[in-house]
Amino acid sequence: MKKNFRDFPLLESKNKHISLFYPHISKDSYNSIKKVLSSRWIGQGPLVDKFEENFSKKFCNNMPTVAVGSGTDALHLAYILANIKENDEVICPVFTCTATNIPLLYLKAKIKFADVDLNDLNISVDHVEKLITKKTKAIVFVNYGGLLCNLEKLQKISKKYKIPLIQDAAQSLGAKYNGKSITEFADFTIFSFQAIKHITSGDGGALVCKNKNLAKKARIIRWFGIDRPKKQGGTWENDIVDIGYKYQMTDIGAALLLDSMKEFNFIKKRRNQIHNIYVKLLKNISGLSCLANNSKKIDPVIWLTTIICDRKDFLQKKLRSKLIETNQVHFRNDRYSIFKKFCKGKKFPNMDLLENKYLVIPTHTKMSDKDAILVANNIKDILSKA
Ligand SMILES: *Cc1c(COP(=O)(O)O)cnc(C)c1O
Repeated sequence: MKKNFRDFPLLESKNKHISLFYPHISKDSYNSIKKVLSSRWIGQGPLVDKFEENFSKKFCNNMPTVAVGSGTDALHLAYILANIKENDEVICPVFTCTATNIPLLYLKAKIKFADVDLNDLNISVDHVEKLITKKTKAIVFVNYGGLLCNLEKLQKISKKYKIPLIQDAAQSLGAKYNGKSITEFADFTIFSFQAIKHITSGDGGALVCKNKNLAKKARIIRWFGIDRPKKQGGTWENDIVDIGYKYQMTDIGAALLLDSMKEFNFIKKRRNQIHNIYVKLLKNISGLSCLANNSKKIDPVIWLTTIICDRKDFLQKKLRSKLIETNQVHFRNDRYSIFKKFCKGKKFPNMDLLENKYLVIPTHTKMSDKDAILVANNIKDILSKA
């Protein structure tokens, strides 16, 4: 059944409604931004350095961190550093934000989509292993909505076949696996600070590398391919050996992120609490389930709450009439024309099963427990009358 997009426009923010997303901005940032705007540095300056240092310490067990202009920039850099070239095969999740897969098209790589796991819509690790060939250059995975993949299993596969792992952690900032930072499980990990992510600089991102030398290279190609500290230090003769980009973060963005990082305990608590209310209240309802991590090894910071519902269209429409916003958020990537050439004859049975059943419900730091209970009770009510 085709739905007209006009059935579900974004709700006017002046209405009393529960929005799906809301950016988290620290109250301190109004002053911090003022300070930045009256300083010498508004582009990439000392606050970006400070952000990288604090972020690496707080979230990445001190692994080298390079701040960039977006999560997509970070992914593009990771793919370049993993030496992905034309016709190299890269295993990728079929269900993700298109940002995960689009930079591979810049490099003319061959995308090998892996099906989803029915439990959490994450990449199916079994399917990943089946897709490995001699030409596989990298395995890319996403922790969907903050639910973590089986990082141990992925790491084992990576070691067994000697294929680097690229972790798109745009949706799983601050999560831990076996008590360790998730960045320790992959060769490259990227984060996004786009407007609706856990913490935001409007747009922004970070690349975390296991290898120090590759992080050094990332810093250089982030800015045209120029060794900026050397140049600023007075070096007159410069050279560019690798083609670079303009993928830096600005001090304006870094100021926002430094403030939000101080509030991360609150962000984590609020998001997880709302998610846990949903999981608890939406149990034992026929035709409905709520995606969640069930392993004790995982300490998540939830970004999305996704429900699986047999009557998704009906539920979405009814929730909207109660001024509760819901959305698909991501769409299976094999349906996009730009990826069609990689999908001829390919089958994704798990994705087929869930394609018309998943729905993302509101989870953000502006919501109270009461809001979450209201959403859950509305879902229960609507489905009991269905
Ligand atoms: C948000 C997001 C990105 C891209 O981040 P941008 O900062 O918008 O470029 C990449 N992958 C996933 C899974 C995301 O959710």
